[in-house]
Amino acid sequence: MSDTLPIEVALQAAEARLRSILQTVPDAMIIIDERGRIESLSTTAERLFGYSMGEVAGKNIKMFMPTPHREQHDGYLKRYLQTGERHIIGIGRIVTGQRKDGTTFPMHLTIGELRSADKHYFTGFIRDLTDQQLTESRLKELQSEVTHMSRFTALGEMASTLAHEINQPLTAINNYLRGCNRLLERIDDPAAPMLRDAIGKAADQALRAGDIIRRLREFVARGDSERRIESLPKLIEDASTLALIGAKENGIAVAFRLDPAVDLVIADRIQIQQVLVNLIRNAVEVMAEVNGVRELDIETRAVSDETVQVSVADTGGGLSPEVARHLFQPFVTTKQKGMGLGLSICRTIVEAHGGKIWVDARPQGGTIFRFTLRAADHHEEETLVG
Ligand code: ADP
Repeated sequence: MSDTLPIEVALQAAEARLRSILQTVPDAMIIIDERGRIESLSTTAERLFGYSMGEVAGKNIKMFMPTPHREQHDGYLKRYLQTGERHIIGIGRIVTGQRKDGTTFPMHLTIGELRSADKHYFTGFIRDLTDQQLTESRLKELQSEVTHMSRFTALGEMASTLAHEINQPLTAINNYLRGCNRLLERIDDPAAPMLRDAIGKAADQALRAGDIIRRLREFVARGDSERRIESLPKLIEDASTLALIGAKENGIAVAFRLDPAVDLVIADRIQIQQVLVNLIRNAVEVMAEVNGVRELDIETRAVSDETVQVSVADTGGGLSPEVARHLFQPFVTTKQKGMGLGLSICRTIVEAHGGKIWVDARPQGGTIFRFTLRAADHHEEETLVG
């Protein structure tokens, strides 16, 4: 007879049960201890993240998430253990996961808590949202906000271009009419005064039309902007989650290099997300067409106390000189179904925020789009929020 104690038998049986659950559970499941070290991984989680259990056992769970959560996760855990304040435990949220190959994907994460004796464990249940219709998710919400806004801005951009185009012939009409009037002054004919009067009125109407258009342009430039103090890393996280749907299929590795000194900026959240979505989408689209390295780098940098810079760099085919010359102008596109409004909208939004947007060629191929925003200092935080 074996001399194993019944309690050990029970423990072994429990462990075997857990192993079999982890092998068969359809959801990705990860168990970590209170310091974030990986205890167990379900087979689905191994497949989803591209790691085997052997590779990650005992390592910190933060390797499964992109920046900025990667750096902050230890702090989240610590804060929860100290304060018991729940941000995600038992609630469930859409977050971004990062695979072994560096690619990221949207996932729904629910966390359960488990205390046994003096030990504390957390169980994460993960659903990959990449291929799903996210009807009731936050992502959908974001998406509709951004597309609504983008339609609105596209209309505004078209109105503004149209206004600019129409204003020039109107000015010319006005000038011609004034010239006619001067010529008529020298003609001695009974009909001349009537003609002069009519021409003067026509010139006034042309001026009036110009005025209406000027007002339209001003309105478009002002837009419906709601500028607040926003966290730039959060803005980037939301926008990239949205813009990177489908990036997995294209095998794009995404790297976030976020300067820890950059946090609060003054921005209209939806508009700046729209800029980011446009830039990231463009980058993903150009990289889908190249073979070889596909890397997307999203970076922030504090340029000065007042200014931060955001850049989106790709390893795509780069810009042709012809496109580069007119890049931020409306209706410049090389795409069959493109409208060529994305980048001009980006420019309108960034400039309305008091920033600048430009493009650089990446030395190793591809392009880097950069834009600046105003950093919010604490004084502004008080005046804007208070
Ligand atoms: P659209 O996407 O409708 O064409 P955009 O204004 O967003 O409008 O882009 C204009 C053009 O600029 C694109 O058609 C493409 O030729 C070029 N372009 C934009 N982003 C990139 C990029 N990251 N790499 C190479 N070309 C780009």
